[in-house]
Amino acid sequence: MNRGRELDVVVVGGGVVGAACALALAGQGLQTMLVEPSPPVPWSRDKPDLRVYAFAADNALLFDSLGAWASVLAARVQPYRRMRVWDAGGGGELDIDADTLGRRELGWIVEHGLLLDRLWALLPAAGVRLRCPARVEALQDDGDCVRLRLDDGSQVQARLAVAADGAQSSLRRLAGIEVDVHEHGQRGVVGYVATERPHEDTAWQRFLPGGPLALLPSAGGHCSIVWSLPDAEAARVLALDDAAFGRELGRAFDRRLGEVRPVSPRAAFPLRRQLAREYVRGRVLVLGDAAHVVHPLAGQGVNLGLRDVAALRDLVAAAAGANGDWHAASRLARWARARRSEDTLAAHAFSGIDRVFRSENPAAVLLRGPLLSLAGRVPPLSRALWRKAAGA
Ligand SMILES: Cc1cc2nc3c(=O)[nH]c(=O)nc-3n(C[C@H](O)[C@H](O)[C@H](O)COP(=O)(O)OP(=O)(O)OC[C@H]3O[C@@H](n4cnc5c(N)ncnc54)[C@H](O)[C@@H]3O)c2cc1C
Repeated sequence: MNRGRELDVVVVGGGVVGAACALALAGQGLQTMLVEPSPPVPWSRDKPDLRVYAFAADNALLFDSLGAWASVLAARVQPYRRMRVWDAGGGGELDIDADTLGRRELGWIVEHGLLLDRLWALLPAAGVRLRCPARVEALQDDGDCVRLRLDDGSQVQARLAVAADGAQSSLRRLAGIEVDVHEHGQRGVVGYVATERPHEDTAWQRFLPGGPLALLPSAGGHCSIVWSLPDAEAARVLALDDAAFGRELGRAFDRRLGEVRPVSPRAAFPLRRQLAREYVRGRVLVLGDAAHVVHPLAGQGVNLGLRDVAALRDLVAAAAGANGDWHAASRLARWARARRSEDTLAAHAFSGIDRVFRSENPAAVLLRGPLLSLAGRVPPLSRALWRKAAGA
């Protein structure tokens, strides 16, 4: 390959995690390029994105440091002040309230498309060089730098290539990093619904034998749903007409918010647990969904990816403070160890919770209700649960 002009970092994949990564590293003074095959669809107030995230407090701080949070807040977010989780099988209820934790809110429900739109708007001013549309075709790791050939015929050379190109990451494959995959055999059905009673700024979740059903409050009074169902059940409910879907959903939700009526199209995505066996190999680092895919029941998918980014930014800042090389193999290996162990723990914990709450084993059914209630009633426990989810 020809030598292109040398960069510090080339981030491959301009999703929420990749775009945040490019901005965070450029903010540390690194020469950064972002490679993405398709520019994001501009966010529109009239077309709510079906993919929404329960955005955690630490990631709001990350977005704030990137200069993106104020414009996200000004556009459309829904704070949630309470979480209510209950079990259809074993009874028991977990209730966490922002007031009792001394917080104004527990987090925010935010549209994926809005986050993307606001991050991309900041790329030019931050000095991030953009290659879009472009994909990576070939990788050569020369030990002290990495060279990428893009499908537009150009070559780029950088000290580090970051794979942020999602669960099917091409860069991860080119680097020879393998993944461990566990298919949950479920799909997450998403969409917006109107409910008879107001959502009370509460994130609701009911555990059912087929998987959890979450109703998340949305600005404007509607709720977005994430309904985890076995594959065949998901296909069946996706095919129902609106009236039948609303009836089934209302029943599955125990009619906590009264009658439920769909107000948007529905979509579904497959649920799997996937973990990269290595987070750094040579001059390639993987993060976001390229590194880990988790069950959505704790709303941590994008939050974990953004924590990878914040930790990488902190690594660069710490190296600068110590007059060291940010790209030293030992530093990158430390980052990889810390992030992989947190992500692995989270991924297995979420799968485990899903399994326990779907289990019909009488002991599991008997125990999980009281445990759920206990977690909500003991303030240090509910505080610890919230702090973990919020990255606080
Ligand atoms: C349909 C759907 C619905 C979801 N809903 C929820 C939800 O409700 N709640 C939740 O917590 N999580 C949800 N998730 C998961 C969540 O979206 C991910 O955890 C999060 O988007 C990860 O961000 P990312 O930037 O790492 O990856 P992605 O969002 O997958 O972004 C990857 C980027 O890389 C680009 N790319 C792909 N291939 C290449 C290539 N060869 N070269 C360069 N770039 C490339 C893509 O175009 C994309 O822009 C959902 C996922 C999907 C697919």
